[in-house]
Amino acid sequence: MDVKIQEVISRDGFQMEKEFVPTEKKVQLINELSETGVHKIEVTSFVSPKAVPQLKDASEVATRINRTPDVTYVALIANLRGAERALDAGMDEVNLVMSASTTHNKKNVNKTHEESLFEFQKIMDTVKSTKMKVNGTVATAFGCPFEGDISEDAVQQYVNTYLKMGMNSITLADTTGMANPVQVKQLVSKVKEQIGDIPLTLHFHNTRGMGLVNVIAAMEAGANQFDASLGGIGGCPFAPGATGNICTEDLVHMLDEIKVKHNTDLDKLISLSSGLTEVIGRDDYPGQVVKAGKVSDLHTV
Ligand code: ZN
Repeated sequence: MDVKIQEVISRDGFQMEKEFVPTEKKVQLINELSETGVHKIEVTSFVSPKAVPQLKDASEVATRINRTPDVTYVALIANLRGAERALDAGMDEVNLVMSASTTHNKKNVNKTHEESLFEFQKIMDTVKSTKMKVNGTVATAFGCPFEGDISEDAVQQYVNTYLKMGMNSITLADTTGMANPVQVKQLVSKVKEQIGDIPLTLHFHNTRGMGLVNVIAAMEAGANQFDASLGGIGGCPFAPGATGNICTEDLVHMLDEIKVKHNTDLDKLISLSSGLTEVIGRDDYPGQVVKAGKVSDLHTV
């Protein structure tokens, strides 16, 4: 089973940066990531520039990047206007996000579940006659910083609603890094059984150091698509100072070590990660292999 790596740095990573990442640098990095063998790139987010000033250049980035046929280019959207902008920019896929937690959904997108689903239906009606695919994300699927535990039934119910609406694939997101491997194995097993051949992505955060072990647990339950961010950048507004997404090159390095196929070029990823300071203007990002080197990089005696 080949693992598919989905890069989210230019959306999930950059949106948390304090300093604006120049458009030119975003475009260049995405172009380079397109040559690493990743399955998808979440390019940007078509949301209000007031809500996410870091991604105010969404349309420009999306139209300027080079497209590689083997890569699916994705944009996060929150409403019908976002879907229209994604269509204009020729995105392959849009990602719709609703939190399983009522409180988190209200805080994140200022909508009740009913309001989110109403908007999603309008989006589905608009894109169904186009080639653009739709991925539905259930955020806070493994726990909510306001409500605590999230029931598996609630997650499965929203997955079901997404599929009934005609969404093409599903993501379960551990938005604030609360998942543990036992829980991951159980929920992923259930959802895999529920959705059969529909593609399932796991979006883990390494907020509390359990990111990669959660990947292993999800793989044991049959999952093979993972979101990750170069350098592990990103974050969580509800855990200030915490690390963000699992780190792409650390994930790929682990897969190499355990002999799992992944189709990406680890050396290229490490090289891009080591150049990240030029892009984000800081060198304190969480990636570990970029600092320690690969296990196979032996030292001279
Ligand atoms: Zn994330």
